[in-house]
Amino acid sequence: MNVASDWYDGVVKKVNGLKDSLSPMDSGWAKFVSNTSATRLDPLLSAAKRIEQFSPDCTQCQIFRDDIDTMMKNAPDAVQQGDKALVGSFLNNVDQIMNKMTRHFQKEHRLVRAWNYTSLFWIVGWIIGMSCKYVFRDHFYWWPFLGMGVGAAIGAFLDYRVKKEDRILYKTASSWGFSRNTSVLSWVVFAAIVIMMLLFFVFR
Ligand SMILES: [Zn+2]
Repeated sequence: MNVASDWYDGVVKKVNGLKDSLSPMDSGWAKFVSNTSATRLDPLLSAAKRIEQFSPDCTQCQIFRDDIDTMMKNAPDAVQQGDKALVGSFLNNVDQIMNKMTRHFQKEHRLVRAWNYTSLFWIVGWIIGMSCKYVFRDHFYWWPFLGMGVGAAIGAFLDYRVKKEDRILYKTASSWGFSRNTSVLSWVVFAAIVIMMLLFFVFR
């Protein structure tokens, strides 16, 4: 076992310990929006795995590794004291470093979020479809649906390629948390549009 994976195993141990201690502190509402302190730590593990992977060749990732070490050093004390303010400031630190790492991973290591392209391209397809409907002024009501379908298909193909090349940013389920990921918003808009279109067809 090399030094790097020793480091990752250490982070896993610490994060799991923290998750156990933090779980009772989360409210029902926090759980509902998948924004519990425990699930906020899951993406940190994914990020640490990437840091382990990239740090031999990337100075910035080495700096992040040291930042994580510093951050984790005092965390168990803060959590064990049960002081909400201390825990809060620890979690803010986690958020801050996660944001920095996410930007770095996207920019320098070409990582993208899960379903990134699908959730973007169906909207683009829908807009193009709507435009076609107005440009051609025909009675082909399916233009928006067609655009949406083609957009989603192109997006899904690009996402499939990302997955195959192992370039998905964070693989944990909690990276889908409401407050963390705008693609959830995208799916909500998607559902709203589908419902509106269906209502249109039913009542027209
Ligand atoms: Zn890097």
